[in-house]
Amino acid sequence: MAHRHEVIVVGAGGAGLTAALYAAKEGADVAVVSKLYPTRSHTGAAQGGIGAALGNVEEDHWEWHMFDTVKGGDYLTDQDAAEVFAKEVIEAVIELEHMGLPFDRLPNGKIAQRRFGGHTKEWGKAPVHRAAHAAAPVAQPEPSDPPASLRARRKRSARAPRAASASAPAPAAASRSFSRGTTANTPPRR
Ligand SMILES: Cc1cc2nc3c(=O)[nH]c(=O)nc-3n(C[C@H](O)[C@H](O)[C@H](O)COP(=O)(O)OP(=O)(O)OC[C@H]3O[C@@H](n4cnc5c(N)ncnc54)[C@H](O)[C@@H]3O)c2cc1C
Repeated sequence: MAHRHEVIVVGAGGAGLTAALYAAKEGADVAVVSKLYPTRSHTGAAQGGIGAALGNVEEDHWEWHMFDTVKGGDYLTDQDAAEVFAKEVIEAVIELEHMGLPFDRLPNGKIAQRRFGGHTKEWGKAPVHRAAHAAAPVAQPEPSDPPASLRARRKRSARAPRAASASAPAPAAASRSFSRGTTANTPPRR
């Protein structure tokens, strides 16, 4: 039996379903083809949370998130894409919330955020609460002693040259880029 549709999306993870949703919102007749049932995609398996500089728990800036994204990609990341991502993921998380994603909450009702992965503040200086999560265990251990891998990374970063204005807050300026010389505590070039 033949099926005809205006848009065919292959894959039913977060990316595919979002593409399908927006195409359908524009009025297209959409079909999603998937190897696995949608909830068995990697998107359904992700547990740590979605990184977004909401700043609900502590100060955070999209520039710090962009820096972490570029550094985490070993400076091979498309930096224009990383900039768009770090800026727009803030709105995207709020949009997901409005769609009904049951994010965990802070006592004040805002979306909860925790430390996770390579999310840092002040250009790699320390972990930051940036991961918005759903259905996480209530008490998230945040050991005062960071894991050995993080201690080793910090030690390596500490050997790198530091800029004088190490703790300068992220400026509101729009465009910036990072290179391998941009290490912990070193603000990026503008
Ligand atoms: C255990 C785990 C934990 C994770 N934790 C986090 C986290 O905490 N935070 C975070 O940001 N990221 C996390 N990730 C990574 C994140 O889940 C993925 O980067 C993201 O979900 C990818 O989304 P996607 O829509 O591109 O792909 P997927 O969610 O992988 O979806 C791909 C879709 O394509 C379908 N497909 C594949 N091949 C075919 C084919 N040949 N024909 C038809 N359909 C096909 C699959 O069935 C699936 O529906 C985690 C990943 C895993 C596995």
